[in-house]
Amino acid sequence: MATITNRQLFFQHLAQTSDKPIGIEVATANGIYIHDTQGKAFIDMIAGFSVCNIGHSHPAVIKAIQEQVEKYMHVIVYGEFVQAPQVQYAKALTSLLPTTLQSVYFTNSGAEATEGAMKLAKRVTGRTKIVAFEGAYHGSTQGALSVMGDEYFKTAFRPLLPDILHLRYNNFEDIELLDQTVACVLVELVQAETGITPANKEWIAALKMKCASLCVLLIVDEIQSGFGRTGTLFAFEQYDIVPDILLVGKALGGGLPLGAFIADTKMMGTLTENPVLGHITTFGGNPVACAAGQAALNILENSGWIHSVKEKETYLIAHLHHPAILHRNHCGLWMSLQFESAAITKKVAAACIENGIITDWFLFAEDRIRVAPPLCITIDELIIAIEKIIKSINQVVAG
Ligand code: PLP
Repeated sequence: MATITNRQLFFQHLAQTSDKPIGIEVATANGIYIHDTQGKAFIDMIAGFSVCNIGHSHPAVIKAIQEQVEKYMHVIVYGEFVQAPQVQYAKALTSLLPTTLQSVYFTNSGAEATEGAMKLAKRVTGRTKIVAFEGAYHGSTQGALSVMGDEYFKTAFRPLLPDILHLRYNNFEDIELLDQTVACVLVELVQAETGITPANKEWIAALKMKCASLCVLLIVDEIQSGFGRTGTLFAFEQYDIVPDILLVGKALGGGLPLGAFIADTKMMGTLTENPVLGHITTFGGNPVACAAGQAALNILENSGWIHSVKEKETYLIAHLHHPAILHRNHCGLWMSLQFESAAITKKVAAACIENGIITDWFLFAEDRIRVAPPLCITIDELIIAIEKIIKSINQVVAG
C-alpha cells in the first residue's frame, strides 16, 4: 500500500485558510535559507513575516532553548511563579525602553497582545470607544479583528466589538474627531499590510499631542515593525514619541511564539484589582520562548545588523527596480513592489518560488510583492536575491 505523504496529509488534516498555499515541504532552515525535502534551497525574503529577523535557527538561540528545556518547560499559568527566563527577558527589554514602559505582560501572540492592551486601556480610562485606522492590521482574533481597517476580512464575522471608530491614516483632519469618550488609539507607525506605508512624522506628533490632551492612551503596534526591521530597535525611536502602550510580537520570541504588551507599571497594576486577574493566559511568557527571545535580542544587539539596515535599504532602492515595477514603498529592510495587477503580482511570486526566492503579497495590497529578508542578509546575498527577483519578473513579462 502506498504511504500517504505529508503533502497529502497537509490537505487532509490541516485546516486550510489559504486558497493556494505555497506548499513548500520544509526539511530544514538556517540563516537566510529554507531547504525543502527535495533538497532545494530558497532564500527567505519575508523572514517568516518578520519573525526571523536574525535568520533561521541561530545556534545561540538553539543553545538557549536546549538549556532551558533541560531545566523546565511549562510550570504554571502566567504570573504566579518567578521564572528566570521571563524576568530576565522583561528586564532586558525594559532596559531598552523609556521609563514609562517598564512593565511587560507576555502573551503567546501578537493578536493577544492587542487584546490585552485594549482591555488595559478600557480598564485604565473607564471609557469604551476604541479608535483605529483604515488599512490597519492588529491580528485576527475577534477584538483585534474589530480594529482591522479592512471591511472585506471582517464582514463575515460580524457582530464584532461595538464602539470602534476608524479614521483615515495620515489624515490630520480626522485627528480632530477624537474626544473624551475614547479609551485608546491603536496605530502602526508603518502600516504593514497596505504595502509598507510609513506614518507621516508630523501627523504622529499631532496624534500623540491630541491623545495626551484628552487622556486617550496611544497604543503603538510594533509587532511587525519592531526588532530592527526599520533600522532602529523600534520604529517609535524615529518618531520622537513614547507610546502609552507598546505592542510587540513576531521577532520577540526569536522563532518561538511570544507577544507582549508593555506599559507603565502603575497603569499595568490596574489588572490586579476589580477584577483581580484582569488578563489571564496559560502559556503566555512560556519560559522556553522567553529564553529564545532573550538570546535573539542579545544577538540583534551585538551583531550590528540593525545598524546595517539603512545601508541594505539603500542598496535595495538602487538595484531592485524593473520597468514592470510601478511603485516601491520602503522603510528599512522592508519594501513593497507594486505591479500592474494582483494577477501579475501572483505570477511574479510564483516565478520567485520557482527560482528559489520566498516572497508573498500583502493582505490589503495584493498587487504588491513583499521584500523583508532576515536582517542578517549580506550585501552579496542581497545581490543574488535581487538577480533572482528580476529574473522572475522578466519571465512573467515575457509570458
Ligand atoms: N499586528 C501587526 C502589525 C501584525 O503584523 C500582526 C501579524 O501579522 C499582528 C498584529 C498579529 O500577530 P499574530 O499573528 O502573532 O497574532
